[in-house]
Amino acid sequence: MSEQKKAVALISGGLDSMLAAKTVMDQGVHVEGINFFTGFCVEGHTHAIRGQNKAKPKRNNALWVAEQLGIKLHIVDVIEEYKKVLINPKHGYGAHLNPCLDCKIFMVNKAKQWISENGFDFIITGEVIGQRPMSQRKWTMPIIAEQSGADDLLLRPLCAKYLPETLPEREGWVDREKLHDITGRSRKPQFAMAAAMGIDDFAQPAGGCCFLTDASYSAKLVDLWKSHDGHKDYELDDIMLLKVGRHIRPKQNFKVIVSREEGEGRFMEGYKKDFISLRATSHTGPWALIDGNVDAEDIYTAARIVARYGHGKDAEQVDMVIMQPDGSEREIHVKPFAADEIPQAWFI
Ligand code: SF4
Repeated sequence: MSEQKKAVALISGGLDSMLAAKTVMDQGVHVEGINFFTGFCVEGHTHAIRGQNKAKPKRNNALWVAEQLGIKLHIVDVIEEYKKVLINPKHGYGAHLNPCLDCKIFMVNKAKQWISENGFDFIITGEVIGQRPMSQRKWTMPIIAEQSGADDLLLRPLCAKYLPETLPEREGWVDREKLHDITGRSRKPQFAMAAAMGIDDFAQPAGGCCFLTDASYSAKLVDLWKSHDGHKDYELDDIMLLKVGRHIRPKQNFKVIVSREEGEGRFMEGYKKDFISLRATSHTGPWALIDGNVDAEDIYTAARIVARYGHGKDAEQVDMVIMQPDGSEREIHVKPFAADEIPQAWFI
């Protein structure tokens, strides 16, 4: 009996990668999943800490997909290596700061390294020709295969019939006839396939796999780089904090991050040893952080902003506690800004 072939599937947590993996599993191939954590993933962060969409399950969809398929999932931390992809993408950015083509090449290349190290035979992705404007086009498919080094070890089961035969097809590890011919942006074929496979619960991410496709997130990242004198660098904490709160920059030297809800406030409290924190004591209100080097006047401005977002917004005076990273505290009294006193230009 021939040896069972092994494939690793890039699992984002969405429907396409789930269907791609299932298609190949159904042909008797041993499939395991791989998910790359860049720090920009939507999964398992904002979903988990924010109270909105309470009806939506708070789960890591990549893990959930693996569980549904009954396969192992390897979550690989690529935070450091991903910086060079984002900071200097050879193929440029998409509509926002999403370097999708370079990102795909990077991830498939990482998967290629992984299969070599782990004795697997080929790679599966859920890519569909024409599905995404930047990375999933007919002309990008060979670029990803070539520049990642995966070449014909990369199988895209959902659109394989429109692509040249890959090694797994030529060798008969998978039957090309049982692969698919999906193209375009419509999701109908995937929904039909899911129904046929008995899959009735899946994530439908609105804006792709990561925050880099989001206009407001990208604007905050550009602002962060500007505040670093144009150096496009970042740490994990920086990019995590860009996912929460209102970001308001009254002056070049500092910005204020104001939580929008309780869950965000609790998350931001975890940063009280890294930033100056503020909160109203005379009224209920949000948790806030000051990011930057500030003097007393800047702190006063920040406190007036934060007071604006609490229940004391119309009060003559709001008492605020200012907490330093070393744990020392002091109280100040401020008059909240009126809505029209905060210029639109301060909002990032
Ligand atoms: S949306 Fe984000 S994770 Fe997905 S390919 Fe683009 S840059 Fe990469």
